[in-house]
Amino acid sequence: MARRLVVVFAHPDDDAYGVAGTVALHAADPEFRFVLVLATDGEAGDIREGFPATRQTLAAVRRAEDAAAWRAVGRPPDRHEWLGYPDGGLSDVPFDELVDRIAGILAEERPDVVATFGPDGIFGHPDHITVGAATDAAFLRLADGGGGGFRRLCHGVIPESVFNRWNEQRAAMNLYVFDPTQIYHMRGVPDEQISITVDTRPVSDRVVAGLSEHRSQHHVIIDDPDDVQRWKRIVTREWWVVAWPQRPAGAPTLTDMFDGLD
Ligand SMILES: [Zn+2]
Repeated sequence: MARRLVVVFAHPDDDAYGVAGTVALHAADPEFRFVLVLATDGEAGDIREGFPATRQTLAAVRRAEDAAAWRAVGRPPDRHEWLGYPDGGLSDVPFDELVDRIAGILAEERPDVVATFGPDGIFGHPDHITVGAATDAAFLRLADGGGGGFRRLCHGVIPESVFNRWNEQRAAMNLYVFDPTQIYHMRGVPDEQISITVDTRPVSDRVVAGLSEHRSQHHVIIDDPDDVQRWKRIVTREWWVVAWPQRPAGAPTLTDMFDGLD
């Protein structure tokens, strides 16, 4: 059975979109092991107006929010590692040190699948791009060494067609549209690069319940946290590019990260 997953992201809430549905779908699977690595505590995040947190308490608040979010999803991580690097400063950390930290966890876990950000960081966020590049390097260091695991490396992405549709909807709702040439704006990847499309509709309620627990960040992660129906529509799919091994041209789209690994 190949159901061991390590997810490596930058901030507590990166894990709330894009992978929570996949985890929820495997919640009842006894062979599933879920390890989460977050490189920062998110202490530089923008604090929602009126929210009872300060710059000094935000790291602890966001750690607690992340734990509550996974309880709401219904499948907390079996192991959660906080690397404690500065939020917004990941690209200033010596790259080899970051790779070593991540590789140390990966070597202990020998997961079947490793999931992280691709080179677009979904938002062009330097922390996202850096943690993705370091995770790729750690994966590739270990993948060829024998000893099992390391069957697939996945990058979380938004397909360009979906990105364009969301932007059209945003324009129609008089919300700002994403400009993919700008840092901190969402961007998509060409649809033909998508290797895995997960239908997360059966668990979309749980994904939204998890997102809702990131209370200090509601204003960042959703335009209107009270519009649950819109929130649910956003979380009906999760998309991944298989970054390793290279997939043959024309290979059928997979429906789960572990698809075809047994
Ligand atoms: Zn982030």
